[in-house]
Amino acid sequence: MTYTVKEIFYTLQGEGFFSGRAAVFCRFTGCNLWSGHEYHRDSAVCQFCDTDFLGTDGEGGGKFKSAKSLADQIDKIWSQETNNQDSRFVVCTGGEPLLQLDNSLITELHRRHFFVAVETNGTQDAPSDVDWLTVSPKAGAQLILERGNELKLVHPQNGVNPEAYEDLDFDNFYLQPMDGPELESNTKHVIEFCRRNPIWKVSLQTHKFLDIP
Ligand code: SF4
Repeated sequence: MTYTVKEIFYTLQGEGFFSGRAAVFCRFTGCNLWSGHEYHRDSAVCQFCDTDFLGTDGEGGGKFKSAKSLADQIDKIWSQETNNQDSRFVVCTGGEPLLQLDNSLITELHRRHFFVAVETNGTQDAPSDVDWLTVSPKAGAQLILERGNELKLVHPQNGVNPEAYEDLDFDNFYLQPMDGPELESNTKHVIEFCRRNPIWKVSLQTHKFLDIP
């Protein structure tokens, strides 16, 4: 299988459970909820995306003809930054990573001692060998993945009530303020909601205000 990847880079995870932890981010090209083109934004299922997941022209991006070659690239980027071998961490994101991520790639990453996390919109089945599954439901998209390690809901979204997810089988529930012109009021609303509903924790996009690429 050929994997199409927008970019691969070393950073700190900015959001959710592993916020602050060093990671290689592997951003897969493409998403099933938006074409990625501005001229399709109004007709997209997911309308608030702020990620460029088109093409392969990002740092470390490209087409990888095998799971081994992509895992080698991820390994190389980790090893360029640190000698640490015990906390190897890769976040597979997108776009929608589950359009491409499969058990072959996870096996190759495990051979290189990576802990494999996935950030998905929850509309696709996930390979069984994923180590950490973060599901971020989107309004208007059918949720297939109803269990995982972390449910991270961007809030508010039209017609979405966070309480509707509370019976799903997740270990952690995060509410993250929607970025944009309403960020300040969205953040206040999220704080107030989490105070009233302690099952939920606040997730902030720390990489944005700490200016971590
Ligand atoms: S599901 Fe994620 S990657 Fe796809 S358009 Fe929405 S925010 Fe962007």
